[in-house]
Amino acid sequence: MKKTNTKRKVADCRLFPSESGCSLTITGTEEEVLKVAVRHAVEEHGHEDTSELREQIRGLLADEK
Ligand SMILES: [Zn+2]
Repeated sequence: MKKTNTKRKVADCRLFPSESGCSLTITGTEEEVLKVAVRHAVEEHGHEDTSELREQIRGLLADEK
């Protein structure tokens, strides 16, 4: 199976409401970004790992430029 045209997504932590002024960006496939971003939000920003959080993060993903 060829893996061409795998679209990468970007999660920019600056777009995520937080008080820490975090400037992290995470780039990868949607699944990768989501996994890392959720872990980051929980560990660094004290969010709770809920399906709501996942949906919120998913909504912030942008296509890589
Ligand atoms: Zn962050």
